[in-house]
Amino acid sequence: MNTVTELFGSMVFNDSVMRARLPRNVFKQVQLSITEGRRLDSEAANIVANAMKDWAIEKGATHFTHWFQPMTGITAEKHDSFISPIDGGKVIMEFSGKELIQGEPDASSFPSGGLRATFEARGYTAWDPSSYAFIKDGVLCIPTAFCSYGGEALDKKTPLLRSMEALNRQAMRVLRLFGNEDVSSVKSTVGPEQEYFLVDRAVYEKRRDLCYTGRTLFGAMPPKGQELDDHYFGTIKPRVSAFMKELNEELWKLGIMAKTEHNEVAPGQHELAPIFTSTNIAADHNQLTMELMQRIARKHDMVCLLHEKPFAGLNGSGKHNNFSIMTNTGVNLFEPGDTPSENAQFLLFLCAVIQAVDDYQDMLRLSVASASNDHRLGANEAPPAVVSVYIGDELEEILSCIEQDKPYGVKEKELIKVGAHVLPKLPKDTTDRNRTSPFAFTGNKFEFRMLGSSASISGANVVLNTAVAESLKQYADALEHAENFEDELHSLIREVIGRHKRILFNGNGYDEAWLHEAERRGLLNLPATPDCVPCYLSAKNMKLFTDHRVYSPAEIHARYEIKLDTYVKVLKIEAQTMVNMVRKDILPAVSAYSATLAEAALAKEELSVEINTSFERETATRLSDLMRDTLSEVETLKVESAQAMALGDVLSRARAFKDRVLPAMETLRESVDAMEILCDREAWPYPTYGDILFSVK
Ligand code: ADP
Ligand code: MG
Repeated sequence: MNTVTELFGSMVFNDSVMRARLPRNVFKQVQLSITEGRRLDSEAANIVANAMKDWAIEKGATHFTHWFQPMTGITAEKHDSFISPIDGGKVIMEFSGKELIQGEPDASSFPSGGLRATFEARGYTAWDPSSYAFIKDGVLCIPTAFCSYGGEALDKKTPLLRSMEALNRQAMRVLRLFGNEDVSSVKSTVGPEQEYFLVDRAVYEKRRDLCYTGRTLFGAMPPKGQELDDHYFGTIKPRVSAFMKELNEELWKLGIMAKTEHNEVAPGQHELAPIFTSTNIAADHNQLTMELMQRIARKHDMVCLLHEKPFAGLNGSGKHNNFSIMTNTGVNLFEPGDTPSENAQFLLFLCAVIQAVDDYQDMLRLSVASASNDHRLGANEAPPAVVSVYIGDELEEILSCIEQDKPYGVKEKELIKVGAHVLPKLPKDTTDRNRTSPFAFTGNKFEFRMLGSSASISGANVVLNTAVAESLKQYADALEHAENFEDELHSLIREVIGRHKRILFNGNGYDEAWLHEAERRGLLNLPATPDCVPCYLSAKNMKLFTDHRVYSPAEIHARYEIKLDTYVKVLKIEAQTMVNMVRKDILPAVSAYSATLAEAALAKEELSVEINTSFERETATRLSDLMRDTLSEVETLKVESAQAMALGDVLSRARAFKDRVLPAMETLRESVDAMEILCDREAWPYPTYGDILFSVK
C-alpha cells in the first residue's frame, strides 16, 4: 500500500507536477494566470494541454471533461475522449490548448433563470487555472466556469471568483493604509465541516421517500433516538470505518485534506472536516467530497444521505463554513497579533465582518435557504433563522469599552486607544463553544453555521466575500483621506461598533426569549425560503452586487427565479411521493391488517363469547378512524398541491407551497405515523425509523 504522502495529490495536476513537466517560461505563465488571473497565450495553452494529457494518460485516463457547477448546486461533466483519428484507421491521443481553455457543453437543460433564450441555448465553459485539474474515474477533470455567450454567469463558480476579486481589491486598499507593502493579494479561506448520515442500502431502497426525496416523509420515532448521546464521538463501527478509510484515500489522491472524522449526535450521523484552503478550491473540494461520499458509500452497500433533515425529530445535517481572510504572505487577518498596529488592523477587519453580517443579514439568510434546510434552521439543534454574531464576552467587552470610552482591564483599568495600545490577550478556547450561534468568532476565524449539508458552499461565500468587501470599501474611502490616520481609525471603529452592536449576541440562540429580543433590536427573522428570496431584488442588495461587479441585475433575477422554482419543485415531488406512498402501500397495508384483526376477533368470538377481543376490536376501530382521516388528508394534499402549482408567478407558487401544502403534508404525516404505531411490525410496508437508523451494524 502506498503511504499517505505518496497518495496525497497523486491524481492532481498540481504545482510540483507542472514544475516537473512544463518548460520554465510556461510554468511561470501558468503561475501568473493563477495569481493574477492573466490569460495564457495560445502557444502556452497548447503546451500545458499536451503536458496535462500525457500525465493523465500515464495515470490511466482516456477522457477529459470540463467540470463545472451549474446553478442546480451539483457538478456537471460531459466526457470527451482524447482520441483523434489519423490515416490508416488509426487514432492518436490529442488534447489542444483550445480544448483546455474553452468548452461548449450541450448543457441547455440546466436552469438558467431566463439568462439564455432557448434559441441560443448553448453556454460555454472556461478553464479556472486557480483550481488544479485532477483525474477522477479515468477522466481528466478541468475545473471550469460556465457562462452564456453574453458572458452571464450560469454557474456557482464565476460569482465566487468575482467576489474573491472584490474582496481582494478592497482588502488591499485597507492593508496599504496600515503600511503592509509586502502583501500583494489576499484571499478568503474556508474549511467546511461536512455532516452526513450513513444508512444500509437494502433498507434505504425499501423507502420510496428516501429514494425520491432524500428524506423520510413518514416515520414514528423509535424508542431509542439520540437522547442518550451515546453515538456522539463514540466508537466508529467497522463498516463505517472501512468506508471512511476508503473515502480518505480517494480524497487524498485528489489533494483534498480530509483531516478529522467522528460520529455526530444522531445515530448513523457522521462528520468530516478538511483542512482549510482558499475559498474557490474549498468549494470545488467540497463538491468532490459530497460526490465521493455518495459513491463510496454505495460500494460499501450503504447510502450517504446529505439531506439537511432526513429524519424528523432527530438532529439534521449542516455544514460549518469556517471563514477567514489570508494574505499571500501567510497572515491571517483575523489573528489579533501582538503589536498596537496589528491589533488595530485586526479590529478593523473584525468590524468589517460584524458590519457585513448586520448590513446583509437578509442575504446571508437567503444564501443558505432551501426547502430542505428550512426544516433544520430554527429547529433547536441548528442555529435559529435569525442571523447574529458571537464574539465572546471578552472581545465584546473590549469593543464596548472602545465605543463608550470606558476604561478596560481588571487590574489597571485604562482607556483603549486603537492603534496606540496593545489589546489584552484573548483566550482562544472560550470563544469557541457557543454552539447555538449562527455566526461565531472562534479565535482567528468565523464559523458560519447555517449552511445546509447538501448545499454548495459557493452561495454563502459569495455573500460573505462581497459584504465584507463593501465594509472595507467604506473604511478605505474614509481612511484614505484622513488627516490623522490613527484618530480617524479610532473614531471609525467606535462608530461602526455603535451602529452594528445590535447584531452581537453571546447568549443562547435556541432560547425563545432571543427571538423577542432580536425583534426588539430590529433584526430580521425570515423563517422560510419564500420569506427571504424576495431580498435578492431589494435596492440595497442589487446595489451591493452590481457595485462590486459580482452579479449583474440579470444574473440576480436568474438566481431569484431558480431558487423559488427549485423550492416549488422539491415540495411538489415530496407531496406527490406522500400521496403515492399512502395510496399504493400504506392504506392497502393498514386495510389488510385491520381486516386480519376483524377476522381474528370474529373467529375468537365464534369460538366462545368468553374470549376477550378488545385488542383486535379497539385497534381495528382506531385504525379505521385514522384511515378515514388519512384518505381525506391525502385528497386535501392533492388539491392544495394542484392549486399551488396553478398559480401564475413563481413567488406566489412558492408561498402557497409553504403556507398550504407543507401544513397539509404535516397533517397527513401525523395520521400515518399514528397508524404505524398501531400496526403489527410485519404489516407495516416500510422499514421503520429504528430499522433505518440502526441499519449499519
Ligand atoms: P473545531 O471547530 O472542531 O474546533 P477547528 O477549529 O480545528 O475545529 O477547525 C474547524 C475547521 O476550521 C477546519 O476545517 C479547519 O481547517 C478550519 N480552519 C482553521 N483555521 C482556518 C482559517 N484561518 N480559515 C478558514 N478555515 C479555518
Ligand atoms: Mg467547528
